[in-house]
Amino acid sequence: MGIRELVTTARKVVVKIGSSSVTKPEGGVDDGNIERLSAALLERRAAGTSCVLVSSGAIATGIRPLGLARRPRDLATQQAAASVGQGLLIEAYTRAFGEHGVRVGQILLTSDDVIRRGHYINAERTLHRLLELGVVPIVNENDTVVTEELRFGDNDRLAALVAHLVRADLLVLLSDVDALYTAPPNRPGSRRLEEVRGEADLAEIDVGGVGKAGVGTGGMVTKIEAARIATSAGIPVVLAAASDASAALAGESVGTLFHPTGHRIAARLLWLAHASSPRGRLRLDAGAVKAVIERRLSLLPAGVVAVEGDFAAGDPVDLVDEAGRSVARGLVNYDAVELPGLLGRSTRELAAALGAAYQREVVHRDDLVVLRRR
Ligand code: GLU
Repeated sequence: MGIRELVTTARKVVVKIGSSSVTKPEGGVDDGNIERLSAALLERRAAGTSCVLVSSGAIATGIRPLGLARRPRDLATQQAAASVGQGLLIEAYTRAFGEHGVRVGQILLTSDDVIRRGHYINAERTLHRLLELGVVPIVNENDTVVTEELRFGDNDRLAALVAHLVRADLLVLLSDVDALYTAPPNRPGSRRLEEVRGEADLAEIDVGGVGKAGVGTGGMVTKIEAARIATSAGIPVVLAAASDASAALAGESVGTLFHPTGHRIAARLLWLAHASSPRGRLRLDAGAVKAVIERRLSLLPAGVVAVEGDFAAGDPVDLVDEAGRSVARGLVNYDAVELPGLLGRSTRELAAALGAAYQREVVHRDDLVVLRRR
């Protein structure tokens, strides 16, 4: 199948829209843009495609009703603005889709919701049920409760992870950034990339602060990162201007199309790699690095040489090599205080000395994801 066909035949699509495309420069929801976006989604839906919308704009929408002059910088005021804005935003979508007899449902996520297994299954189930019921789920980060450490901050990555979570066959990133360029578009010689086939095509790009939106948080860098996450898990990505939504969803040659580069992996691991913050670090000896990275084995106490951080069993931790580079991330099976007494000892020795419970891996291979080497 040709790459354009992947776009036109996708049965499930996640569309992400940026803050500046759903709010007006002077503040407030841009109803005209929301109607145009809804119409583009409805067109695609009428052709039998399930659509999930990831919409930013809660904070931007809340600015004016709170009488603020500009986007707040501190987390608490941002959260207050999101609390006010999210409701107004959903109201606008409810109206726009409702005029065509289509219901929308709100889903507010935090990264924790997806990394922890029980929560993850819940979020996945709700999204699927909404789609079965013919509802258009509208996802945003749960800005009002999330802490600085657990925050995505930008919805581009969130959209990539949601695309993977719902097993979408296409991710469309819409914003005021109309395509990926070889350099900032105002620079002479800069040209639009119609397609990105893989890392080699990205290597040449000079992102130089391009496309940094005024009211949202995403720029070109977060869009490339989102495209990487989705394509590495087998999902093609279209990056296009919000004003080209309809053309982008119809598979026309607008924006930039990223080819899928990899295959689906367990959703929890994708989120672990891209949406969690490590609570600590385990330094591995060379043998353990090899075992974990190349042979994909579980990490045992014998291979750990040092422990940093204050974590509890079940928390994400980074596994670092002798040079201090993070090479993998996993959910640890021990509390930080327990580990130092176990290091360098074989599981058999530990079981004999401390009991069978100490035979368990430090990080099980199923809870471990290799990070891209930086
Ligand atoms: N979640 C934030 C909001 O709705 C936006 C994050 C972003 O700009 O991508 O305001």
